Parts: sequence; C-alpha cells; structure tokens
Amino acid sequence: MSGEPILRAEGLGKTFDAGGSRIFGPERPGVRAVDGVDLAVSAGETLALVGESGCGKSTLGRLLLRLIEPTDGKVFLKGRDLTSFSSEEMRAARRDVQMIFQDPFGSLSPRRSIAQIISEPLEVFGLVRSRKERRERVGELLTKVGLPPSALDRYPRQFSGGQRQRIGIARAIATNPAFIVADEPVSALDVSIQAQIINLMKDLQRDLGFSYLFIAHDLAVVRHIADRVAVMYLGRIVEIGDKTTIYDAPQHPYTQALLSAAPEPTPRRTGTRIVLTGDVPNPADVPPGCSFHTRCPIAQDICRRERPPLATVAPGQRAACHFAAPNPIPVPARAGAAVTA
Ligand code: SF4
Repeated sequence: MSGEPILRAEGLGKTFDAGGSRIFGPERPGVRAVDGVDLAVSAGETLALVGESGCGKSTLGRLLLRLIEPTDGKVFLKGRDLTSFSSEEMRAARRDVQMIFQDPFGSLSPRRSIAQIISEPLEVFGLVRSRKERRERVGELLTKVGLPPSALDRYPRQFSGGQRQRIGIARAIATNPAFIVADEPVSALDVSIQAQIINLMKDLQRDLGFSYLFIAHDLAVVRHIADRVAVMYLGRIVEIGDKTTIYDAPQHPYTQALLSAAPEPTPRRTGTRIVLTGDVPNPADVPPGCSFHTRCPIAQDICRRERPPLATVAPGQRAACHFAAPNPIPVPARAGAAVTA
C-alpha cells in the first residue's frame, strides 16, 4: 500500500455558519468543524478515523466525498482536484467514491424494493442495459454480501439491522468504487453482529481492492480493519500512524485516553487508566494553543500559548503534542470514568 494515494486532502477545512446577522442581531462566530486536515489514503488501504462524538469526523468524511463543500483546502481523487470539478464532472466522479452510512434503518428507503435500492447507482452510471441484466447484477451483489438473490423483491422492513447494513454495503460496492467512506457502519448494530459486518467489509476490500476511510468513536472497533489510524479532536488530526504504533506506542495524551477507555487493550505505554477532566470545549470557541489543554492531564504553560504542529515522532507516526516523543511527560494515573463518546 504505497505509491500515489487514491485520495488526498490538503489543508481541508469547514466552518459552519452559527447564525445571527448584522441586521437582526450580533453575528456569532462560525463553528470550525474541520480545521486544516492533511491526509492521504493509498489503494487498498483502510484509514480509521477515530474521536469522540462531535469532533468533526463525519464532516470530514463528507468533505472528502464533496457531499458538503469545504470552506478551504483541496481534495484529490487519483491525483485530480475534486474541489475544482464542475457539478457534471462531480456526478461522473461519484462512481469512484461511495458511502456506507451508520443507520441501516434510516438509510434505505422503506418504499423501494432491494432491487430498486441496489440498482439505483447501476442505472445512474449506465452500468446495466436491461431489466434482466439489472436483476442479475443485483443478485450477484447480494450474494457477495452474504444475502440470497431471492432478497431482490423484498423490502428493507423485512430484514434485520445487520442484513440492512449488508444491503447498504451492496449498494456502495455496486459501481466498483475506488474509495468508500464508512461512517460508523457498525455502531448501530449488536456487538455480535459487528464482527460479522467488519469481516465482510474486509473480505470485500481484499477481493475488490478499494480503500476505506472507516469512521468510529471506539478504537476497539477499528483494531481489526485499520491499516493506519487517525485520531481527531475538535476538528484537527492530533495523531496519525500505522496501526501498531497507535495501539502499542500512542504518543498523544488524547489517543492514550481513548485507548485506556476502550475495553481492550490495556495501554502498554503507561499501563494506567487515563481520566480526562472537563467537558469537550465548544467547537465555536476552541481554546488557544493546544486545543486539548483544557482536558489534558499533563498540560503545561506552553500548551496554553502555542499550538503544537502535527510532527513526526517515529517512523510512520505523527502527533500534535509538545511533549510527544522523544521527551514525553509521564501521564499520571487517576481513578474514575474516562472519556465519553
Ligand atoms: Fe497535552 Fe500540551 Fe500535549 Fe496538548 S501539547 S496534548 S496540552 S501536553
């Protein structure tokens, strides 16, 4: 998994209008949901994007697919600048980029048959020429995701949550995309079903060769599918690296806290449970310096003044912390509950 990335973001940012106007009241500052994100995903790779609810993960996923327009920055798909595409060029590019949604109940239209739902992208991109070909192709896709071809003429309400997510996956792979954003694809499912869906997603990636951005709030969930992990806090990537470095030697105190809150593994670097104090700051009023300083157990004066760059701390690993390797401050152990998501 090297060479030219399939998808690359440069300085990607999104500020949402917070309302108010000069005429009817004071303008409120916008909400900086995503702030200057650089990342790249190679062919056949899974980059997991992890962080607490509201940190900007889903917004970033949608920016990468240009489902929402960035305020600044660029996105390149196979080296071509998606953000400069006309709406017609973007419609054509959508064949290469797809999305799997979190909610397998809400993301499938209840009034459309499974055949209609899965064949929609096939028809939009002219990939089937007749009804017979359409039904054959949908039957193949159902088989690929572990459902019987006889499911064609049934409706979403006739399937369980796990089966509906399989249908959503079949729709996402129908156009043979190069890049898929999976936005918390197993969060709404029973734990017993989650592993089945993750295994299916891995198998399909191995067979079809596409790349994933796999969004989750739980580091334990992505452990079995990620090649690399990016950790996000208040709209910024605070740590990114190969899976082994992130799980075995996390450098950012926030990554360490997320790991210590996950059911497994116990963080090897400190062996302690790390408790984050205080609430997540308001995204419309991000703290100066390191935005994590209001909750960081080892924050120093410099953290309140200077924003740490996302710097290389080890081969294949970058972290945005003044006290990441090679001069880390030990994180103190505390008792009690850790992070929430
Ligand atoms: Fe904590 Fe300071 Fe590092 Fe931010 S820069 S994570 S506040 S030690």
